[in-house]
Amino acid sequence: MKFGSLTFQPHKPQGFDFHVFRVKPETGLRLTPQPDMHSNIAVFADTATGQIHPDWISQSPLGQAKFGNNNFNLYWSVLCPTQPDYREEQLKYIAEVDRQSQGIWLNSHYFADHSHCTCPRCQELFQKSGLSWIEWRRKVVTDYMAQIRDVVKKDLVLSLQPDPVSSLERYGVDFDDFAEYADTFNAVMFSKNYATPWYWEMLTRGFKKLLKKPFYVNFYVYGPGDAPQDVPTSAELLTVTARCARVGGVDGFVYLADGEKEMAAFQKATVANVALRDKLRTFGGQPVQEFLDRVADWEKLVK
Ligand SMILES: [Zn+2]
Repeated sequence: MKFGSLTFQPHKPQGFDFHVFRVKPETGLRLTPQPDMHSNIAVFADTATGQIHPDWISQSPLGQAKFGNNNFNLYWSVLCPTQPDYREEQLKYIAEVDRQSQGIWLNSHYFADHSHCTCPRCQELFQKSGLSWIEWRRKVVTDYMAQIRDVVKKDLVLSLQPDPVSSLERYGVDFDDFAEYADTFNAVMFSKNYATPWYWEMLTRGFKKLLKKPFYVNFYVYGPGDAPQDVPTSAELLTVTARCARVGGVDGFVYLADGEKEMAAFQKATVANVALRDKLRTFGGQPVQEFLDRVADWEKLVK
């Protein structure tokens, strides 16, 4: 069981097996890849490019894929995944970032959500394809994953939205198609609290049942601009990780934080909660013990 950090700053918090830097977050900002870190790229979520090319923003009967359209859960702009210039540019960018770092973690490499995209180009491509709407969207996404796989020479980790049931209908994502190209999956389970771990355990069981490649579960610790009262407590994070570890077969846990300061505060609070760590020892078999042993290793860091 591996531990990974995913950070907005080019930081490598201690006590993790690998570190992922958000080189291109959904804002569209492009930061310098780090040679000793993996690089996370939001592909079609790109607010900056959407401002320059508003006609590239994904369209639907319920409006565009942009912040403020409350028909969807979007805090940024998502571009149409068939825009040829953008697809080409991203392929080159991904290849270059791969060359300059430890490998590529993608997110937003699929349609914005259900009923996207209905721009004139997508409507024409769909009509010409002779496929059903769902199958056409799947082909758009899968074909692009094949192209990306060709240019990524190191590890390719494909993030998944926390929806094991409807990802095909919503995003055009077929887990079996993706398994052909991904070295590992990353099931993103961000939340500002984990007060009810039952649901996250259920999602983990769903992914475990469906994914044909190793997978990580990705939790939210502390994002940029958050206040301490906005984020999950360390007790919630400890509990929810133990509950998901209990499922068995999760290959690692990845924690999202702004930078090393926020991660260290989480680790310190976690280590201090001896009573909860002892209680969680009774929550399951070997994977739970393994997770708690990893947490115990953090004791050395916070002295
Ligand atoms: Zn489109």
